[in-house]
Amino acid sequence: DANLYLFVRVARLGARYILLLAEDRTEAYRLDDVRRDFVANISHELKTPIGAVSLLAEALSFAADDPDQVRKFAKRLSKESERLARITQEIIELSRLQAADALAKPELVSIDHVVSLAIDQNHVVADANSVALVSGGDHGATVYGDESLLVVALHNLIANAIQYSSSSPARVGIGVSNSGGIVEIAVTDQGVGIPEEDLDRVFERFFRIDPARSRNTGGSGLGLSIVKHVAHNHGGDVRVWSQLGSGSTFTIRLPEATTAEAGTGEEK
Ligand code: ADP
Repeated sequence: DANLYLFVRVARLGARYILLLAEDRTEAYRLDDVRRDFVANISHELKTPIGAVSLLAEALSFAADDPDQVRKFAKRLSKESERLARITQEIIELSRLQAADALAKPELVSIDHVVSLAIDQNHVVADANSVALVSGGDHGATVYGDESLLVVALHNLIANAIQYSSSSPARVGIGVSNSGGIVEIAVTDQGVGIPEEDLDRVFERFFRIDPARSRNTGGSGLGLSIVKHVAHNHGGDVRVWSQLGSGSTFTIRLPEATTAEAGTGEEK
């Protein structure tokens, strides 16, 4: 961490002087490291489902005479390819978010609309798992940003809350509050909870506590990292409160849109 990387250029100025130009490249080196880690993680994450797909395809060709086996392998094949598609999609989203420090074209976004879109996207899975999605709180809050990114972020939180709910039927709350210029969207579940020592790490890329704990093991460990980047790109943050065995609350906090910003938002 303490290393300093300098790029030094030397030029002779006449007979008596030397010009030394030193450029601090520490940040560039650090970003290179981050990029290398990311690529290594991606390769690792993709190897498992790709390996599974090719094994299942092979198994399928051997099982041709047994319709039950064919059905079983085909079902697993479609699950694995769905997982592959989801991981690829998440990787693309995450690298796009990392490339953009700030949002290119912020627009006025209704939080009520974001909440209802994210709930709609999770309804089928929630119903299938007997999870009730209950929303409430302040109405009418707006922020400046990108509606589709905010929907992705909230979608990820709701999908996790459903996935890590431990009882059935279960309840997931989506609450909006708006005070002091901060809009908070909180997603609360009564699920398995997160061990205290892992609370800081859940937002890291590819971090998963124990894949066996989830309802299906299809997670990528990228969902919360995307939530964090979306919140940061909107000038906000995301926090977690959790108790093992009792449940978790993830809260996205965003600066409320003010009339002072209205001009800037429209012009861009
Ligand atoms: P994943 O695709 O594995 O869900 P995430 O980045 O969304 O990846 O989450 C990282 C890890 O944090 C998960 O693997 C899970 O262990 C834990 N986690 C996330 N949300 C919850 C939650 N609501 N309850 C309990 N654990 C959670």
